[in-house]
Parts: sequence; C-alpha cells; structure tokens
Amino acid sequence: MTAHLRQEAIRSISASDTRSKTDRTSALTSSDRLPDTFGLYVFDDAVQRDRLPTDIYIALRRVIESGARLEESIAGEVARAMKDWAIGHGATHYTHWFQPMTGSTAEKHDSFLEPTGSGQAILKFSSSQLVQGEPDASSFPSGGLRATFEARGYTAWDPTSPAFVRKGPGGGTLTIPTAFCSWRGEALDKKTPLLRSCEAVSKSATRILNLIGETDVKRVMAQAGCEQEYFLVDREFYKLRPDLIACNRTVFGAAPYKGQEFDDHYFGNISPRVLEFMQDLERELWLLGVPVKTRHNEVAPSQFELAPIYQGISVSVDQNMLTMEVMREVAARHGMAALLHEKPFAGLNGSGKHLNYSVATDTGRNLFEPGKTPHKNLSFILFLTAFIRGCDKHQDILRASIASAGNDHRLGANEAPPAILSVFLGAQLEGVVKALIEGTVTTEQGVETVRLGVDALPNLPKDVSDRNRTSPMAFTGNKFEFRALGSAQSAAYPATFLNLILAESLDYLSDKIERLGGFTEANAQTVVSACLRQHGRILFSGDNYTDDWAKEAQERGLLNRPTTPEALQDWAMSSNVDLFEKYGVFSRSEAESRFHVQNETYANKIKVEARACLDIADTLVLPASSLHQLRSADSAEKVKGLLGEEAVASQLEGLSEFTQRVSSARKASVALRSAMEELDGRDLGEGESATAYCEKVVPLMAHLREAVDLLEISVDDDLWPLPKYREMLFVL
Ligand code: ADP
Ligand code: MG
Repeated sequence: MTAHLRQEAIRSISASDTRSKTDRTSALTSSDRLPDTFGLYVFDDAVQRDRLPTDIYIALRRVIESGARLEESIAGEVARAMKDWAIGHGATHYTHWFQPMTGSTAEKHDSFLEPTGSGQAILKFSSSQLVQGEPDASSFPSGGLRATFEARGYTAWDPTSPAFVRKGPGGGTLTIPTAFCSWRGEALDKKTPLLRSCEAVSKSATRILNLIGETDVKRVMAQAGCEQEYFLVDREFYKLRPDLIACNRTVFGAAPYKGQEFDDHYFGNISPRVLEFMQDLERELWLLGVPVKTRHNEVAPSQFELAPIYQGISVSVDQNMLTMEVMREVAARHGMAALLHEKPFAGLNGSGKHLNYSVATDTGRNLFEPGKTPHKNLSFILFLTAFIRGCDKHQDILRASIASAGNDHRLGANEAPPAILSVFLGAQLEGVVKALIEGTVTTEQGVETVRLGVDALPNLPKDVSDRNRTSPMAFTGNKFEFRALGSAQSAAYPATFLNLILAESLDYLSDKIERLGGFTEANAQTVVSACLRQHGRILFSGDNYTDDWAKEAQERGLLNRPTTPEALQDWAMSSNVDLFEKYGVFSRSEAESRFHVQNETYANKIKVEARACLDIADTLVLPASSLHQLRSADSAEKVKGLLGEEAVASQLEGLSEFTQRVSSARKASVALRSAMEELDGRDLGEGESATAYCEKVVPLMAHLREAVDLLEISVDDDLWPLPKYREMLFVL
C-alpha cells in the first residue's frame, strides 16, 4: 500500500524545511549587481557592436530592425563572433530553438566539435550552421502539411530574437531562436505566422498614419508583455500525484477546509521558501535577458505571478516560452514543481496569462496612448476604433487562439474571463466613444459638437481606476490586456491574431476614408462614428462572470463557445482563410493544418487525463477504499463484544453508506472505461474526435471525480494514498 509514502513525504518536507532555513541568509545577501548580470548570456546589441566589424554590425542591425535580407557574408562573420562569444561563456554545443505546433519548444543540440582528420579537432560554427538547420521533422505534428516520405523540415535563424547561452550542468548551449518550416516552405511552427503578422500590422498601421499626414512613420511595431500565473507545490507531493506528473493537473482531490475565501493570499506576504525560488528564477532570467519585473502572490493558495517589462511582440513571446521552461527547472532545483496548467486544482482560481498589447511607431510613439494634442488623439481614436472593430468582427479567431483543454476549465466555467469576448474601455473612454457615435458631447457648458482631430480628448488618467478584472480584453490606459489566455499556452497565436485583426481593421478604415475622397478630419470622423456604431456591441463594462451577461451577450449576438472543439470550428472556415491569405499569415493548408493539430492535441489531452483517472481510481483509490471497508467491518465485529448492539448498528450503517459510495465510484470508472474503449475503436477525423471526447468523456471524468472525492473524505486518513489539497497547497 502506498499510503505511507504520503506520510513520509510530509515528514521529509518538514525536515528539509528546517534545514534550508539555516542556509537562507546566504541567498538573501548574495550581492550580484543586477545591471552587471542582466543579459550577460545574450548575444545582444551591445555584444554585437563590441564583437562585429562595424560594417557587419550595421548590416546586421538593418536585418534586425527593418527586415532587410541577410547576406551570406554577414552571416559568416556573425557566426564566427557568436561562436567565440558563446565558447567564452562555456558553450560546447549549439541548437536551433523552435516552436513546433505542439505548443512547447524544441531543440536538437549539435557540438561545435569538428574532427580535422589527423586525430585532432577544432571548434567550428559556420554561416550555414547559424542560418539553417535540418531537424528530422517527421515526429512533430504537421496537421497534414507534410507526408512522412518528405520528413525533412528546416529551421531558419530569426535574427530579430537574440541568441543566448543556456547553462547546463556540464557546459552551455548556444541557443538560436529559429522559425521552423517544411521543405516546401510551409510554416510548421508558431513563430513564422507571428512574424508575418508583425509585417502585416506594420504595413496597415503605417498606411493609415501616412494617410492622416504622419509621413515620417515608416514602420510600426507590435509590442507585448506577458504576465504569467503559476502554482508551486513541493516536489515530494508532486511525485506522489501521477495525475500531476502526466496531466499537470489533479484529476481528483477534495476541497481543502480553507480555500481562497479569505482573500488572504492575494498580494500577501511571500513565504521565505517561495521568495528564494523567485529570486533564483529572476536571477537566471535576467542573465538570459528576460526583464522580469514584478512578482506577487496570486488569489489561490500557492499561486503566484511573474511579469516582465514589455518588448517587441515576437521576442516577448519567445521569452515567455523561455520563462516557462526556466521556471520548471528552477522549481525542481528548489524541491518544488511549477504547475503551469490552467486549472491544477478544482474549486480554486485557475491560472491565466495576460497578453498586454500595444503598437508603436518607429518614431517611438505608442498608438494606444491617448495623446496630449488633438492630432495625436486622432490617431489614437483610429487605432482604438480599429481594435474594437477587429475584436467584434473576429471574435471567432480570437476565441480559437486561446482554446485548449486546460483553458476550458476557466473559460467555460464560472471563472474569469468567460468564453464570450468583450472589450472593456473604462467609463471615460466609453464616454468618448459614445460622443463619437452621437457626434455631440455634454459638458458643463452644455451640448457641444465633437470634432475629431480638432478638439482635445478629456484627460484620460493612465491608471484607470475602475479597471475591470473580469473582462477578457481590457483597455488599461495605453495598452489592451488580453486576459483570457491559458497559463500553459504559447502566446504566439493570440499575438498573431491581435496583429491580424488590427491590420485588417486599419485597412478597412483607410479604405473607407479614401473612398470618401481622402483624409479630412470630417471624413475620419464619419468613418469612425459609423464603425463604432456598428461594432459597439462588443463593449461591456459590467461583471463578466454573471449569468446575466451570458444572456445579454446572446441578445447582442456575441459568440459564446465554452469548449475547445466549438471554439475551433471556424478556424479554417473560408472567410477566415481568405483573411489569413490576404495578410499572408497562413496559407490555406497552413490554416487547415493548425485546425487539425489543435483538435488532435485537445483529444490527446483528454485521453491522457481519462487514462490517469481510470488508473488512479482503479489502482489507488478503490484498493484503499477496500482496505477501509475491511477495517470498518473488522472494527464493527470487535465493538460488538465491547459496546453492544447499538454501536454495532451505527458502525454497520456507516459501512453500508460507504459501500454505496465505493460502488458508485466503481460504476463511474466502468462507464468511463467503456466510453474510452468505444471511442478507441472508431475512426474519426480530428474535429469529430475532439468533439466526441469533449461530449462523451469529459462529463464521465467529472462524474468519476465526484465519486472519488466523496471517498477521499470518508476513507481513514492513514489509508489515503494521494497527497491531499490541504497538504499540497499549504506547506510552502
Ligand atoms: P498591471 O496593472 O496589469 O499589473 P502593469 O503596468 O504592471 O499592469 O503591466 C503589466 C504588463 O504590461 C507588464 O508586462 C508591462 O511591461 C506590460 N506593458 C506596460 N505597458 C505596455 C505597453 N505599452 N505595451 C505592451 N505591454 C505593456
Ligand atoms: Mg495585468
């Protein structure tokens, strides 16, 4: 029986806790100076300037900043400098680091070592090794893009995301961010479409700015900061929860006595053990050039958040992937497990990722920043209008971009934010939108006409006081915060689609203004006003968690797709494919492949969870319950002689109730198993399969969970094999 392992884990955790307290001071007084360590392992601008000949440096910056073509001769010089620099930091290997459609990152390491033929070896890294790699692509999902007979894919250096050295126990690895494509040039990754969407939004944004007279603007950059939520549990507990190991979430677990009802964890004092972890994590991320800035406790017990300073969106997405990886590693070093799943513990707050998004010109102006002059306000209003229209018109793809089995636990349930997309502006900005729609504004002086580009906007304070934490898309002063992302997911698709919907709507506005005869303030105002009137239904400032909102949203005609298979249904429909193709983000086959991969991933996740449910129920929970039954029967027998009939009757009554619970759990397990067997035998397409698992298996897992959680609160504590919520969540 494994129940004793749980007790041992608790003993060992408290022992190591006392031990580490004695070492704690050293960690806290470590005197590394942040400015010296920040970006130390990154081949960044400063290193490039320092190590490259000036002409090569200038050429490389041109490639990075304006997407110019990379010449072979430049690549050769860069490769040499990069290798020398990396070896100086202890690198023995290099890897092309990429983001296949799985949602995680992938890497294959190659040594710099090259035999010379005379028994000697040199360290070599050529331009072609920097620029292009050829991992065998056959085992990555391609969603039909690649037949196995043409298994090759290639990785291509993305010079816009800096290379870095990752230190391992026996040396470092020069890690080169790359895009990953099939041999025919189709994107097999999440980065390529994101880079393409950055181009699209730059083009459309520059177009409209030039149209309204800002001809000095040549490029526009999307920028983002990803806030990351996560849970920590002690590794001893983690190792005893097969569900955490296989699924990153607990498939069973009765509610703890105390959950988050006192709101005492949010922004609470950070425990020394967790603080040590956070400091170590931050130090490591700083070395890798990730500008982590904020840390705090989140709403649920043992839940935390980390946020970096925003950067160019593709670097930010890369760094978020890196952050998640480093977080898992550092947690392991500290005897903990970092849980990035959206819902590791039922009944408690789930974890999200907030994608803070804005666009800025190459002249350094944030276009979502309400301006101080009427003209700046004009561009702000145009970008705001385009964003609102984009969110309304493309609710389906934005919803699809955040769909995952894990996120269904948050979006579909009564937890923030809901599956319904809406945009929160804050009272003042809503007032501005209303005035723009009506063409008039009521002030102390009476009703006045609004003249866009002529009048100043009311002063919009940066810190919007009535910030709405329930909104999936909130305007927060000078950026939009897309709050519906799952904590475990890559931010690449949401980022791609935000760029895309903004690009498309900016072009829509430009077209309309041009059709009215070109830019005048009056024409801009006419277009903005009509557009806001048409798409204003997406604006909502109330509580997004209520049933009333779901009803109202339905009346407004907004989409509500609580599950992943529903959310994915429009991903590759023809109007969306037209949109993707028009902006060069996905080809038809690339879009279709992603639809397949997303559905397949969903079905696989549910399969694994169902297997974990069955295994844990049948091999851990039910055996422990049988022991409990035997023990109860035995003790009923024993009390007979001692306490008499009444006591025996009461014991037997308890036993018979318990036996019913066991039998419900057993039945629930049998039902789940037969549903799985039934689905296993069917030959379904990816979409149908995802739907079948969602409709048939998910409810049966929930049913089994209910039954098992009832057993947990009835079985003698010393017989229960799995660490309990009350233990896992409150020991750090
Ligand atoms: P919050 O109130 O949500 O904590 P913060 O000001 O702390 O807001 O910012 C949260 C995230 O938003 C951080 O990653 C921050 O760098 C990022 N951020 C701030 N300004 C911008 C911007 N203009 N564009 C994109 N992200 C931004
Ligand atoms: Mg935030």
